[in-house]
Amino acid sequence: MKKYNFSAGPSILPQVTIEETAKAILDFNGSGLSIMEISHRSKDFEAVLDEAVALFKELLNIPEGYSVLFLGGGASLQFAMVPFNLMEKKAAYLNTGVWASKALKEAKLFGEVVEVASSKAANFSYVPKDYTIPADADYFHITTNNTIYGTEIRKDIDSPVPLVADMSSDIFSRPMDVSKYVLIYGGAQKNLAPSGVAFVIVKDEILGKVSRTIPTMLDYTTHIKEGSMFNTPPVVPIYAALQTLRWLKSLGGLEAMEKMNLEKAAILYDEIDRNKLFKGTAAVEDRSIMNVCFVMNDGHEALEEEFQKFASGKGMVGIKGHRSVGGFRASIYNAMPKEGVQALVDAMKEFEKNH
Ligand SMILES: *Cc1c(COP(=O)(O)O)cnc(C)c1O
Repeated sequence: MKKYNFSAGPSILPQVTIEETAKAILDFNGSGLSIMEISHRSKDFEAVLDEAVALFKELLNIPEGYSVLFLGGGASLQFAMVPFNLMEKKAAYLNTGVWASKALKEAKLFGEVVEVASSKAANFSYVPKDYTIPADADYFHITTNNTIYGTEIRKDIDSPVPLVADMSSDIFSRPMDVSKYVLIYGGAQKNLAPSGVAFVIVKDEILGKVSRTIPTMLDYTTHIKEGSMFNTPPVVPIYAALQTLRWLKSLGGLEAMEKMNLEKAAILYDEIDRNKLFKGTAAVEDRSIMNVCFVMNDGHEALEEEFQKFASGKGMVGIKGHRSVGGFRASIYNAMPKEGVQALVDAMKEFEKNH
């Protein structure tokens, strides 16, 4: 049976990414060696890294003066590296979910943290919009896509202080204005590559301003100077990321990707709103186009497990919602084809007919 992978992360990747990476694991560039056993300092791998950086810059239209890094430690290490490198005294955080809370908690280890707003009391079902960013904050941190709750900040906001964003689960989902941010980071395993690598896009001039001593490995300037090769980078995930980046470009870049993402999200949200057995959990104006969260509608709660089984029987994988929201979450990242979303919608319609 055809499987549709709606997992939140690690998650669906383009078929070509998986196939090309599988080939390189057996024989990288016709070298007779696996990409897993070559030197990261070999010419062939350097070319992989260079092309991946170049495609990041091209696809996201990254202005001059920014560096693109590939680092270990996932997005979670960035929760610490960001304040370590950027916070002298004070930073502002918008609390929109579990990941944002974790970033905020880590920042408190380094100085004063102002939580400008939080939607925690509403189980993070919306993105707060009414808040004041302290003018003396060293930076303002947002999480653009709240993977667990299915809310998203899909517009590049204006911030009076340097803006930092965790874009783990919506990078490359839309064209964006990188110049509005000083730093963007994320784990690769949602929309780019297998787990094992994090990306960081950083404006060079923001660095070198804090007075604390930064351990070499945690200092962005180390990795900028060494081109992500200070130590051995995650070679295989970077190779896979390059395949996804090439795929993105071949499809027409991020304008084309956003168009497809909007269309897929609309198909699914329209069905959630129409189908009397289901309802969405995120505030309509904040709905994510990457993670679609829904539950059984009032009076139909008892059908949850049955729908779960019904959908699995039709090849749907990973639609169980996060334990903190319950119900269902369909992650429809870039690599999820429209046909997969349509299959889920068809299952929802059929389930409604049966009840
Ligand atoms: C998954 C996720 C993380 C955690 O990423 P790791 O690479 O596992 O540390 C952080 N932020 C967001 C928004 C996520 O979706």
